[in-house]
Amino acid sequence: MTISNQQTLLSKAETLCLERGVRLTPQRMAVLRLMAQQNKAISAYDLLDLLRITEPQAKPPTIYRALDFLLEQGFIHKIESNNSYILCHHFEAPPHTSALLICHGCGSVTEKTTDAIEHSLLKLTKEAGFKLQHSVVEVHGICDKCSKK
Ligand SMILES: [Zn+2]
Ligand SMILES: [Zn+2]
Repeated sequence: MTISNQQTLLSKAETLCLERGVRLTPQRMAVLRLMAQQNKAISAYDLLDLLRITEPQAKPPTIYRALDFLLEQGFIHKIESNNSYILCHHFEAPPHTSALLICHGCGSVTEKTTDAIEHSLLKLTKEAGFKLQHSVVEVHGICDKCSKK
């Protein structure tokens, strides 16, 4: 992501937090900025290492608190299968079900929002009397670039 794209994204996040009456503290902002600089999913510990470059006093709880906040606001998604995090590319959209396409070749993660999946999941859970709160569909495989190698 280019610097100007990062700026746009961060100011969008700021606006959303203002509207929601929640605080995007400098630390949360720093973590979001680091996430925006990644082109693939990143683990909490790798993020912590990066954050320590500018905030040497940062500890694991610092990063987990920031990540929890960013998850709650829908700015990032968690990839449960490998315990890593990725920036949401549609975070101005209301909470959405996204399919994360995870490449086992290069580790890239592509986010696709899919009304169709959301619909099926809602139907499925409703029939089961289950209240859906949030869901991330992980799709594992090989990306276009890697399959052409
Ligand atoms: Zn998303
Ligand atoms: Zn790939």
